[in-house]
Amino acid sequence: MKLQRFNTNIGSLSLNSFITFAKNLRKLLMKKENSGFNTRLIHAGSISDKFGSATVPIYQTSTFIFESADEGARCFAGESDGYIYTRIGNPTIDALERQLAILENGYGGIAVSSGMAAANTIYLSLLSQGDHIVSTDAVYGPARNVVVKQWVRFGFHSTYVDTTDIEAIKKAIRPNTKVLYIETPANPTMGITDLVACAEIAKQHGIILVVDNTFCSPYLQNPLDLGADIVFHSMTKFINGHADIVGGIIVTKEKAMYDQLRSMMINLGCNIDPHQAFLVIRGLKTLGVRMERSQENASQLATYLENHPKVAWVRFPGLHSHPQHQLAKEQMRGPGAVISFGLKGGYEAGKKFLDNLQVALLAVSLGGVETLIQHPASMTHSKVSAEDKLTAGITDDLIRLSVGIEDVKDLIDDFDQALDKL
Ligand SMILES: *Cc1c(COP(=O)(O)O)cnc(C)c1O
Repeated sequence: MKLQRFNTNIGSLSLNSFITFAKNLRKLLMKKENSGFNTRLIHAGSISDKFGSATVPIYQTSTFIFESADEGARCFAGESDGYIYTRIGNPTIDALERQLAILENGYGGIAVSSGMAAANTIYLSLLSQGDHIVSTDAVYGPARNVVVKQWVRFGFHSTYVDTTDIEAIKKAIRPNTKVLYIETPANPTMGITDLVACAEIAKQHGIILVVDNTFCSPYLQNPLDLGADIVFHSMTKFINGHADIVGGIIVTKEKAMYDQLRSMMINLGCNIDPHQAFLVIRGLKTLGVRMERSQENASQLATYLENHPKVAWVRFPGLHSHPQHQLAKEQMRGPGAVISFGLKGGYEAGKKFLDNLQVALLAVSLGGVETLIQHPASMTHSKVSAEDKLTAGITDDLIRLSVGIEDVKDLIDDFDQALDKL
């Protein structure tokens, strides 16, 4: 069994707090091996302080006092696990990182200031001038834009393909391809990519497989178990789940890649703040119950929409009509809570529909307790070129819906009255 990185200043602990530390370490290891997912959501990775605090304390400090000049030097030389400075490491942030590493079955976690900070830490760590990346065409809009509009200036090459088609991935690979970057389910088309097949291709070509697992959260999918090298999330979405922070997390399978990415994060300075980390730890505890309720609501809404005469099409991994429904069942432990659909009246009808909703909120983002709805072509993906949108299947009539944990009857009644007005 691999030990998670456990960054605690053992040298400066009193005997009592050392006993607490040892008990917690033992609990942590037992939890990783034996506990169910919801138990790990509540307990894994957490540490207590010498007062026996039941929750992870917020260490709202930028810097940490060294016991002596020698100890300071040892910290910098990497000979001590003592904390130095919050951009480098902080006990509250560590607890969150440990917990996500456990939930994703990885070596270690790196918490960052946003999902985009996670994507950019990965790009800048793994790609050098002249290297090539192959990625999902319907990927999160800014994750594509930053590569084709910014990093291209530094000599990054990229190819965006429909990664639900494994042959298209194989064809896109070049001798200088270093990274295969997959988002599944993809945003906002809900296309599902076969991660085991991707891992095989990556292994064969010596390419690093990176998976954006934001839409599933670790509750529904664990890409590292399917052969990925790196998994990351926008914690802004399901992991935090309360639409009140922006954050990201990267988890690697192996230590070497963890060290490489951590060093990049520290140098970029895109660490999460301790208070933000605390809020994520708090939100994360209910991930299981939130996900169960959200996806039950989403399943009912998807069926309602599919049967509605004014709805042209619905894409939801839980529906038999989804082109990769079978793959979704094999790869994911549930359909998730994001639905995309189009109205027969196209974008004009869509706009009227959005303006008439009263329970669902007209806002970008997803994965929170509240139902959010938006129009990707004019909002989240508006900076993607018209041509790229078309090939990625981001049509003008596409509406993206993230289903929350409200009473499903209220959501269906709300949709009913808004559709009636069309
Ligand atoms: C939101 C999102 C991101 C970016 O995350 P931020 O926290 O907004 O920076 C990346 N990938 C997916 C799939 C997302 O939904």
